[in-house]
Amino acid sequence: MHILVIEDEERLAKNLATAILRNAGFAVDIALNGEDGLHLAQSNVFDCIILDLMLPGRSGREVLRALRSSGNKTPVLVLTARDEKASIVELLSEGADDYLAKPFDLGELLARMKALIRRSSGHASAQLVVGDLVLDTNSRTVSRAGKRIDLTPMEYRTLAYLMTHHGKVISKETLLEHLYDYNWEKFSNVIEVYISALRRKIDANSSERLIHTLRGHGYVIRNEEAS
Ligand code: CA
Repeated sequence: MHILVIEDEERLAKNLATAILRNAGFAVDIALNGEDGLHLAQSNVFDCIILDLMLPGRSGREVLRALRSSGNKTPVLVLTARDEKASIVELLSEGADDYLAKPFDLGELLARMKALIRRSSGHASAQLVVGDLVLDTNSRTVSRAGKRIDLTPMEYRTLAYLMTHHGKVISKETLLEHLYDYNWEKFSNVIEVYISALRRKIDANSSERLIHTLRGHGYVIRNEEAS
């Protein structure tokens, strides 16, 4: 998953990015003003945008309007100041998916962000299940046939993305876009490395393969017996 934080208070933005990475294992880009935020949001694919309302230059509200009027459907969680409560109804009707008033509890923000991502990808529960493979996005644990599987953070991120979109073929480029933040170097062969590690850990000891490669198209995780 790839999150965009648009927040002009640099310390808060950095704390959020660190918390999201540590707690959820998601890649995070930061924009410190509305202009940069809008540019990043329109030139990359994000799974959720955390948008502060009070921004220098272009306000959070203008960013939200510009995004929605250009057809961008990325879930947006708005951060409001206490005295902005009156405008919440308008914000929601203008396309915000959720909001939190500052000062907020970090745990609540993380939970709401995860819920938004789940809803937008059509999952109601915190558990992703494909066949006997289970990934719990709250505890960040993975098991197959009840046996715990230890993954590195990047392996976990890759698997979580594939399981969120299970049954769909995901290209290497899409994985790179969703798994890496802006500063990381994008080498497409790293995806192959993570996929082969996942295969070794998830599929090697099982009679049924779940991770499939469609040469030239990408990867798909699916339970072929069920389909
Ligand atoms: Ca602000």
